[in-house]
Parts: sequence; C-alpha cells; structure tokens
Amino acid sequence: MRRWQIDPREENWLGTTAFEAAVADLVAGRLVAIPTETVYGLAADASNALACADIYAAKGRPSFNPLIAHVESVEAAERHALFDTRARVLADAFWPGPLTMVLPKRADSTVCDLATAGLPSLALRVPAAAIMRDLAQASGRPIAAPSANRSGRISGTTAEAVAGDLGDRLALLIDAGPTPVGVESTIIALTDERPRLLRPGGIERQAIEAVLGEKLAPPLVRPDDAPDAPGMLSSHYAPRAALRLDATHVEPGEALLAFGPELPPGADKAGTIVQLSVRGELREAAARLFTAMRTLDASGADRIAAMPVPDTGLGEAINDRLRRAAAPRP
Ligand code: AMP
Ligand code: MG
Repeated sequence: MRRWQIDPREENWLGTTAFEAAVADLVAGRLVAIPTETVYGLAADASNALACADIYAAKGRPSFNPLIAHVESVEAAERHALFDTRARVLADAFWPGPLTMVLPKRADSTVCDLATAGLPSLALRVPAAAIMRDLAQASGRPIAAPSANRSGRISGTTAEAVAGDLGDRLALLIDAGPTPVGVESTIIALTDERPRLLRPGGIERQAIEAVLGEKLAPPLVRPDDAPDAPGMLSSHYAPRAALRLDATHVEPGEALLAFGPELPPGADKAGTIVQLSVRGELREAAARLFTAMRTLDASGADRIAAMPVPDTGLGEAINDRLRRAAAPRP
C-alpha cells in the first residue's frame, strides 16, 4: 500500500504526480482509501463491478449492502439519478456536504448493479471533501465508497485506523489526518411520496425538515451494520422468479444460475443458463450476481435452479443474497 499525505485545506494536488497516480488507481479498478469530511471511504470505481466486488471482499461483510456513489457536482449526480424538486432543493442547500440522497436510478447510469445491490434506487452524495470530488471529476467515474473499516468495526476516521484495518487491501491510502465531521452522512430516501430518514448523520434532521418544509418519515431499513431483521427485505432486490438453492440437477421448465465449469444433469434442457463464473471465481460471481438475476427475470423463467456456491469469502454474501431471493414472499 502506498501512502500519500495531503493537507485537505490546501487543495493544491491537481496536476501533481501523486494525484495522477490516485486517478490511475481508480481508473484501473484498484481500491483507494479516500478521506471525506465524514469518515474515510474505502473507494473504487462505482461503474466497475469487479472493483465493487473487491470493496465487499475487503470489508468482509456477510451481505451486500448497497454503496453510496460520490460525484463532483449536482450536474454529475443528475447523470445517474432522477431529481425531483425536493432533491434539487436539498442539493442546493446541503451539497457539497454530508448528505446522501437515495433517488430513482437512471436507466443509463454507469453505476453497476453490484454497487446498488440490484436496487432500482441509487444513493448519491457530493461530499464537501475536495479530494473526493476532484478524484471523481478527474477519473470521470462515480466513486463507490463505504466507510473504510472491516465489517463490525467502527468507521475509520484516521489514516492510522484505516491502515491498521484495511492496509493489506489498498493500493493507496490518502492521509488527510483525522476527518472533521467524524460521523457518517445523513441518508434521506426520496423514492416515495414521503421523504424518509434512512440514517441519521452529519446533517441534522431538523435542518433538512426546515428546508423541505415537511417532516421526514422514520427509517424503514435496518441501520448500517445492524444484524438482519426479518420483515426488512423491502430494501432488497428480489427476483420475480422462485429460486431453488443448492441445485444438483435442473428440473424441466427451470432456468439455471450456474457457477463453475461443470453443469448439473438436466442443464441441457434448461431454457436459459446464466453463468456467474465459469472458472468458479467468487469475485467474478459477485460482480455478475445482480445482473444475472435481472437477466433470468427478463427471460420470463418462473423457476430458477441455483447451483451451490462455496460459503467462503465473498461466497457468504452471495449465498446471503440467494437465500433472500429463495425465501417465500408474502
Ligand atoms: P456506508 O457503507 O457506511 O457508507 O453506508 C451506506 C448506507 O447507505 C447503508 O446503510 C446502505 O444500506 C445505504 N444505502 C445505499 N444505497 C441505498 C439504496 N439504494 N437504498 C437504500 N439505502 C441505501
Ligand atoms: Mg459503515
């Protein structure tokens, strides 16, 4: 891991070799720890599914939580999501800053399905931290960045904490000293009629309500890093088709979600086969998972046989997602 020290107030990095190297890391799909005003972000190109798979692998989270995409401006944000009047008013008031808005994702957004965990919505933020905005702008990429800490540990607010927790996973750590806000961004969902607070954070609820002229509905989804609670699947993408787990054969009429080089008996009669990874690689399978489920849904299949995926590393999060997709729905 390289380490690059900056003074976030100086903002004098444009055109330097160190800055260009950081941009090159992002464009190449490598992981970079980037300081923001809230906490350090474990950052990668949000349009690169393999890079996003590496974020999940580095965090070691046993499930796919959708990631926040960081962009340089409101204009850039509008290329990825649909803004209504409320979203524009909030962007005007609080961007750049520690506010994240969950908005309907645009069909032509380059943010990958894995970054949004397959959801039709996208979490967007224009951070106050100029280094993050400049890297997004210079790389021409939206930057996915959850807090830079391993799952279950507290969010990294110093370069030392990030190096200790994730150093072996990073191409580069940008060290700007302790982050000024120290708590995560406030997350607001604007995907329903009523604006909703999904996570309290750096901007207080009352300030947002004052600007919106209405009260925020309380969170529906589980707070970050909390254990899964039943009945909270509404925040997750579920395919329409019924999924059969650990399939060792394909039944007539089933589509196949394949993993690895050897297909099970009956595969030759499957209407549709979607491969997660012919080489049996978990990183590639994670990168393709949500697009694969979407493809299977679009094929019109009513039932899907899913081959077993090893429950190690990223396989844990893949299996978590498959189990949710297989769970009976009301
Ligand atoms: P962190 O990884 O700490 O930055 O937290 C990101 C938070 O944003 C998580 O709690 C996610 O569940 C939430 N989030 C990101 N995208 C979405 C989305 N499309 N819908 C709802 N919540 C989201
Ligand atoms: Mg976190």
